[in-house]
Amino acid sequence: MVATIGVKRLAAAGWAIIALSCAPTPPPSVQASPAGGARAGSHASSTGSDAGALAATPDAASSASPEGPSDAGGQVLALGMPRMPLAAGRSRVAVELPARSFVSVGVLGPGDALLGFDTASGAELGDLHANGAVDEDGRLPRFLSLATPAEPSSLMVLVELDAPGELARVTVDPSALTAPLPRELKLGTASARPLIGLPIPVDPRDGYLLEAPQRYLFLRIDVVVALRTALRQAKTRFKRNAIAVGHASQWDGAAPGTDRGKAQHIGHRSGLEVDLGLPASDDSPSGTARRCEGVLVEREVLRCAPGTVRDLDAMRLAYLLGLLIDGPTPNGIYMPKNRPGPIALVDSILTDEAYIDEIRRAAKELRRKRWIHDEGYAALMEDGLLRPSAWHVDHVHVRFAGEPAAPQLTPTAP
Ligand SMILES: [Zn+2]
Repeated sequence: MVATIGVKRLAAAGWAIIALSCAPTPPPSVQASPAGGARAGSHASSTGSDAGALAATPDAASSASPEGPSDAGGQVLALGMPRMPLAAGRSRVAVELPARSFVSVGVLGPGDALLGFDTASGAELGDLHANGAVDEDGRLPRFLSLATPAEPSSLMVLVELDAPGELARVTVDPSALTAPLPRELKLGTASARPLIGLPIPVDPRDGYLLEAPQRYLFLRIDVVVALRTALRQAKTRFKRNAIAVGHASQWDGAAPGTDRGKAQHIGHRSGLEVDLGLPASDDSPSGTARRCEGVLVEREVLRCAPGTVRDLDAMRLAYLLGLLIDGPTPNGIYMPKNRPGPIALVDSILTDEAYIDEIRRAAKELRRKRWIHDEGYAALMEDGLLRPSAWHVDHVHVRFAGEPAAPQLTPTAP
């Protein structure tokens, strides 16, 4: 509750609004400050001066000196520094970002200590505001995950806390996808692939939206890349709306909700499982929503009543699942031989039996059109991989194979 009021208060003070509009006011004074340098002298600075500094952020970031971005009166989380303490009150931190990486920036602290969180970024990072997670709940830890551009960049993070906290940044190389051998894992000569947040989509062509707080959208790196690649190709093929990505794993690899004292799933640990919304065939959002008439079986099991599926874009769903199972092909072309193969191996897909019937009907049509390869088609048609499951009347649950992901962040400061 405190958080909601606080966020409103910040917006009223002009922080959030200014960051969105990014008026081209020149920076009042931009001078290099050492990594972790002095905090803003006081929190008494007027809304006007905050606004000026905020508006200038894109310029400040893009005209950064070789030593890194600078921000008068703010702090810098330099590249060599994974985390830094945040005092109670307002903080403004320029977070340096490496090129071509997946990055999760997080504010950690007591769950209800967040009064305000906002960001301002240069054009090269895209519009992080317009595409934020639809379900942030104002709690800590608060994360923002993003894919960084080809050049090093900087993200201005504005935080207001009513208790001391921490700012952390984890970075993963999206090209390091090779699975470690089980033997090497056992011997300790190789490590598990890392857990990282699914980046905020910044381009309509990304083909997805985030339907959960970002702290619950962490996955093993290869799963992140596999999902993004398949969702983008499905978007290119069908040119329909974005498909929602719901709960994955919590930021520390636990099931979502564990950090609030109650896990909301039995599974969803270690960055291997993710819930996907059902693509809509009408104009409604492709989110977590029931697309059938639900029926309680024996008072405890919810299923779709047979023959009641409506407004499901089964073609798009079957296409997406086929891509996840079989791997995308360059430019989405039909490629019966020598395909690259899956980026992350799918272990199983769970959804309601009624949707499975629709997926299989659509898969036949996809095969006629040569939009799916025989291997992906065969996998969707057999019961081993695509399985009916009760209570899955409003989403598809995808589980990936391989080792549990390695969390990059510990719950408390080391
Ligand atoms: Zn699930």
